[in-house]
Amino acid sequence: MGDCIFCKIVDKEIPSNVVYEDDRILCFHDLEPKAPVHVLIIPKKHIASMDDVAEEDQDLLGYLMTKVKDIAAQLGLENGYRLVNNCGEDGVQTVQHLHFHLLGKRKLTWPPG
Ligand code: 5GP
Ligand code: ZN
Repeated sequence: MGDCIFCKIVDKEIPSNVVYEDDRILCFHDLEPKAPVHVLIIPKKHIASMDDVAEEDQDLLGYLMTKVKDIAAQLGLENGYRLVNNCGEDGVQTVQHLHFHLLGKRKLTWPPG
């Protein structure tokens, strides 16, 4: 997608601090971390939000979910972590390319604001 910053990160047009990458997904450090560990896990395919997930995305997103524990282990999150998706206006989604925040290395509060 032409003006999507996360597609540009996938295409390496915008630099990022990559944690994990394969042919289907990318994980990189968030620019403004909200916890000692704060990374974003995204499908390389442009999907705008959770609201735009299609039947055909089942394998891709199932695959992404199986990788979360491996990325968490790689980042030393053996004491737990939080996986977050913000969707739409009320969810305060600011980047319109599906992404999951993986946060950890501190005791997180609940509920989020
Ligand atoms: P959202 O509010 O959409 O769930 O989260 C978007 C996240 O993307 C924010 O945490 C923000 O800090 C991060 N972000 C926005 N632009 C960039 C960027 O160019 N590079 C990186 N690494 N993170 C970004
Ligand atoms: Zn995109």
